[in-house]
Amino acid sequence: MEKLITGIHHITALADDPQKNIDFYAGVLGLRMVKKTVNFDAPEVYHLYYGNKTGDPGTLLTFFPYSGIQRGRRGNRMMNTTGFSVPAYSLGYWQQRLKRFKIDYSAPVERFHNEMVLYFEDHDGTGIELVFNEKDPRPAFTYGTIPIENAIKGFYHAEIWLDDLPSTVDLLKNEMGHELIAESGNRFRFAPSDAPGNYIDLVHTPGTQKGLSGAGSIHHIAFTTANRETQEQVRIKIAQQMLNPTQIIDRNYFTSVYFREPGGVLFEIATAGPGMDIDEPVEHLGETFRLPPQYEPYRDEIEKLVKPVRLQLNNYL
Ligand code: ZN
Repeated sequence: MEKLITGIHHITALADDPQKNIDFYAGVLGLRMVKKTVNFDAPEVYHLYYGNKTGDPGTLLTFFPYSGIQRGRRGNRMMNTTGFSVPAYSLGYWQQRLKRFKIDYSAPVERFHNEMVLYFEDHDGTGIELVFNEKDPRPAFTYGTIPIENAIKGFYHAEIWLDDLPSTVDLLKNEMGHELIAESGNRFRFAPSDAPGNYIDLVHTPGTQKGLSGAGSIHHIAFTTANRETQEQVRIKIAQQMLNPTQIIDRNYFTSVYFREPGGVLFEIATAGPGMDIDEPVEHLGETFRLPPQYEPYRDEIEKLVKPVRLQLNNYL
């Protein structure tokens, strides 16, 4: 039987300046900007989506850039690091590329005996890891700024720091169909199936300061479910655990249910479809400012509120 939850759908973070955000994720990292829309709950703020060519679940990193907001802080009760999957041989390429753009990175470390990990942060302090591995069959995406053989293929894992693991572990296993895939030291890796893009790493960090929301912090992580029927089944299971899930909310590109897991992290369950090409063709994803039907009548006002931004890749070739 197909699992109700099949992996990570998207990860959403808070950022400061939207142009810097585009320059870093599309420019330095070479992700495709697949959608430029607004935060449906705060339409004066952009919602920028980055992903692979078609903006598939498992590749989507998204941002709410609130210009001028205070910086957040990494810490407990938060998801702190987003892992991206890259080929094992591309470690040297990426070290050189990060050096070229003056991005400090930690010394590469081996994890679980078969992956090398390079940690760095964007200009807002968002934690990123490139995970060099040989087990990801997914195709990469490039604008041509990064040779396709070195380009990012999507997420590898998401890292969550917790004071206590058991209640979050129970939720992942019993309500969300995850299993323990691997463990090493204080890191426990869960997934609905053992494949890059699905891994949730719970890191046991008792006594570590609580994280703070702000620029650079992860706002929530969304998990993929097939459709509204499976989404409702998950919602009922979450409700039975007294975790107060929201009703199903229409996010245009998918529908969503939100709840806070017992460790304090905001979780979302999102449907696989309809997908990023519901309002613009795949060849032109992210090129124009898209608004959902409820905000289209206010387009002129909204366009005056958001700062003009553009994709400028020439500096990142
Ligand atoms: Zn979301």
